[in-house]
Amino acid sequence: MTREHPRLVAFDLDDTLAPSKSPIDARMAGLIVRLLGVAEVCVISGGQFAQFTMQVIDNLVDVDERALTRLHLMPTCGTQYYRHEDGAWVQVYAENLTDDQKQRALAAVEATAKELGFWEADTWGPILEDRGSQITFSALGQAAPVAAKTQWDVDGAKKTALREAVQALLPDLEVRSGGSTSVDITRRGIDKAYGMNRLAELTGIPLDDMLFVGDRLDENGNDYPVKALGVDCVAVENWEDTAVFLDELIPALETVSP
Ligand SMILES: [Mg+2]
Repeated sequence: MTREHPRLVAFDLDDTLAPSKSPIDARMAGLIVRLLGVAEVCVISGGQFAQFTMQVIDNLVDVDERALTRLHLMPTCGTQYYRHEDGAWVQVYAENLTDDQKQRALAAVEATAKELGFWEADTWGPILEDRGSQITFSALGQAAPVAAKTQWDVDGAKKTALREAVQALLPDLEVRSGGSTSVDITRRGIDKAYGMNRLAELTGIPLDDMLFVGDRLDENGNDYPVKALGVDCVAVENWEDTAVFLDELIPALETVSP
């Protein structure tokens, strides 16, 4: 009965806890704080720690130190791990790409995007970003508004074409479709399933006692590896769906662990 009483609830970030690259709503902030009272909570995303801060951490109010020690942050698909210790966020580990891997990844994705006609001239910030453990291609730039991003690749065909072509050039690395306009390149075998396995090791909480909530659990989605790993998953389409789910889950957990 994991679904009813998980010890740890893990969430994707964009389009699961908040609109893409946007802060969480006050309602969601309240639900996360309340959930921290009865369970360990993890946020795992392709984004960097700064995104976690802006979107989640800075918007949690009335949260005490004890609750924050139950929050596990896994930026860039769990290749980085942060915990709250002695009043501050501490990086527990980071597994970065080598300089050679970074250069080859940046060159391959730029050349391929230009070849396929996906290299946009007018963007909101840089298209390519070195996130240390991950190279990210964002078709419309890092700061593109949600409305523009949702229009860019409505059926996902552009991201899939780009992902497949870049993967063929980088057999030793892994290329995945990320958010609505993004493609992520990491070491092989690094995806959200990798992060969840690390989380189980680090916390001692078995995967069977975890629940994962994500908006991209479809086979091409960046949350799918968690489902394939066998973790109990809840599919949502947006943060409002997640809020509705938590409105049911939290009272159920509060009755078993007051
Ligand atoms: Mg998402």
